[in-house]
Amino acid sequence: MHPGAAPAPARTIVVIEDEAPIASAVAARLRSEGFAVEIAADGPAGVETCERARPDLVVLDLMLPGLDGLEVCRRIQHDRPVPVLMLTARDSETDKVVGLAVGADDYLTKPFSSRELVARVHALLRRVDRAAAGTGGVLRVDDVQLDTTSRRVQRGNDTVHLTPTEFDLLAHLAGHPGQVFTRSQLLDQVWGYSDGSGARTVDSHVRALRRKLGDEIVRTVHGVGYAARDTSVAADSGDRAS
Ligand code: CA
Repeated sequence: MHPGAAPAPARTIVVIEDEAPIASAVAARLRSEGFAVEIAADGPAGVETCERARPDLVVLDLMLPGLDGLEVCRRIQHDRPVPVLMLTARDSETDKVVGLAVGADDYLTKPFSSRELVARVHALLRRVDRAAAGTGGVLRVDDVQLDTTSRRVQRGNDTVHLTPTEFDLLAHLAGHPGQVFTRSQLLDQVWGYSDGSGARTVDSHVRALRRKLGDEIVRTVHGVGYAARDTSVAADSGDRAS
């Protein structure tokens, strides 16, 4: 203990992984980075541990006994948004897309290096911190309202549940109405990845936003990237119509 310097409370990460050697290697590395880590070895135990520990982040294996990672992801995201880094053994695009669509914020395909894992964990947490430190206020896209303080989303009178990454992506686009972002700009500015990898990640999250909020919410600018639907432009052109 260093007297006078109150240590910041350790952030908690829950690792849900049935392969014990991977679980303990991941936990050991995260503990060495200063995180408090709890391990759960199957789906139901993972859900229970998350409810009790209220972690700051979850590392979640896709292939789990009991409940698979997709169902676990749905359940732990149900009550409160928590960033999820999904581990997948199968390097198939479908698995990644499915995983991201149910609310994982990022994924790593096994085998991965612990350096890579730690980098992803820090990037995810930085993103959540940055969003929490935002100035607050309400952003609007069409009939959708994003409260950047409470991170609640309303469409008309309905509350819509977005994962932390979906929220950050839409808030970023909505905060720059009409501006078109390339996938690598979004990876850099929303995800905090500067190496430009993971364009499919952006596409998956855009698909999830459209599924939850309608196809119009995010516009594809072919050959360039994405933009939030610019309602002010739509309204102007409506006034001028015929
Ligand atoms: Ca597994």
